[in-house]
Amino acid sequence: MASKREGKIFIISGPSGAGKGTLISEAVKELDDIEVSVSVTTRNIRKGESPGKSYYFVSDEEFDKKIKEDEFLEWAKVHSNRYGTLKKLVRNLLQSGKDLILELDVQGAISVKEKIPNSILIFILPPSDRELKKRLLERDTENQGDVGVRLRTAESELKFQNIYDYKIVNADLSQAKAELIGIINSIRKKD
Ligand code: 5GP
Repeated sequence: MASKREGKIFIISGPSGAGKGTLISEAVKELDDIEVSVSVTTRNIRKGESPGKSYYFVSDEEFDKKIKEDEFLEWAKVHSNRYGTLKKLVRNLLQSGKDLILELDVQGAISVKEKIPNSILIFILPPSDRELKKRLLERDTENQGDVGVRLRTAESELKFQNIYDYKIVNADLSQAKAELIGIINSIRKKD
């Protein structure tokens, strides 16, 4: 008897301002049997975000408790906050046969790839440094100080792009979306 297919993990990284969030949400609208993981974070909720949908927003103490109780598949400090992926959420989804998208920073991507080696790593690039700076400055969610931190993090993240299996330059959203869907479908065909 054919055993049920176990879902695959697609890890998506890239600097803030590369447009990962929009790209992912647009791509999943056109794909079946795939979910985007909801991470736990200590950062403040932003305008337009809803708890349990964008993230599970928790206090530092609650995050510490989850680390102690070994609830995270991985967690990392990004910019000045902590973010973590829940083991339980990943396990349940994969067992249901669905694929899963994890939007992680580079540290998280490396850590999950070590633990689950058949995960696929995809890096999203902004079209240029200038465009990245412009997109970060235009975001009304960040103040000027934050933009500086995010730009420095972006520079260090870009250095890791070559460890990724695929790279997508997000200059044009519909083209980048088609590329992402194409990568996911080509991996699914190999199963
Ligand atoms: P933001 O605060 O802009 O939503 O996310 C900041 C960064 O944290 C992004 O690079 C995002 O990919 C990363 N991130 C979000 N959730 C997780 C997570 O669960 N683990 C790790 N390692 N990084 C995450």
